Amino acid sequence: MPIAENINHFNKILSQSNTKLIAVSKTKPQEDLLQAYEAGQRHFGENKVQELTGKSEALPKDIKWHMIGHLQRNKVKYIAPFVSLIHAVDSPRLLNEINKQALKNNRTIDCLLQVHIAQEDTKFGFNETELIDYLNSEELTQLKNIKITGLMGMATNTDNKGQVAQEFDSLKALFDKIANEYQLDQVKMEELSMGMTSDFEIACKAGSTMVRIGSAIFGARNYPQP
Ligand SMILES: *Cc1c(COP(=O)(O)O)cnc(C)c1O
Repeated sequence: MPIAENINHFNKILSQSNTKLIAVSKTKPQEDLLQAYEAGQRHFGENKVQELTGKSEALPKDIKWHMIGHLQRNKVKYIAPFVSLIHAVDSPRLLNEINKQALKNNRTIDCLLQVHIAQEDTKFGFNETELIDYLNSEELTQLKNIKITGLMGMATNTDNKGQVAQEFDSLKALFDKIANEYQLDQVKMEELSMGMTSDFEIACKAGSTMVRIGSAIFGARNYPQP
């Protein structure tokens, strides 16, 4: 698998839409990440805390680590010292814990709020009403060590491109609405994380600023991941 070539290929495609590439390296060995690193890739995404922590200790220090998977509150403390962006924040309680651990580490942690846009009910995230209510809440104004820098979403896993486009468009509309209507210290809408191997083209058209690409860079994973 020519990992370096794949990185170059995606950089070429994505430069046209100003979209950042997050190389999703979950389950892949460190050598594979190093090949991508040597091709210039600096943003890597993982979905398991233990794997993320292990790789961050072993690999070059200028890598920006993205936690892209569902995060349990009791594990936030392990990634709080170094994580660059947490993509899938799906509850106020999780955000409270991230704030607490960020404070302990004397830093501010950037977070994306995950919005439930897919039809499948297995996916985590806020719905639109919950999200707006939360942005209006007193609770959020108390959090001084987090910054909500955008939204993240996963479309339904379907061949129906029209449906996927509709789901991404709805997330972009919500992103724009929040960017235009909310002036909070804790909120700065800059990143819209949507699109993976199967649907990144649709996501880019819809206005994604970050795509999370795994198998198209590193090849198929050996065991299924949620
Ligand atoms: C695994 C994963 C990806 C990447 O999936 P690919 O289909 O391999 O590109 C993107 N986002 C999340 C949240 C993931 O868990």
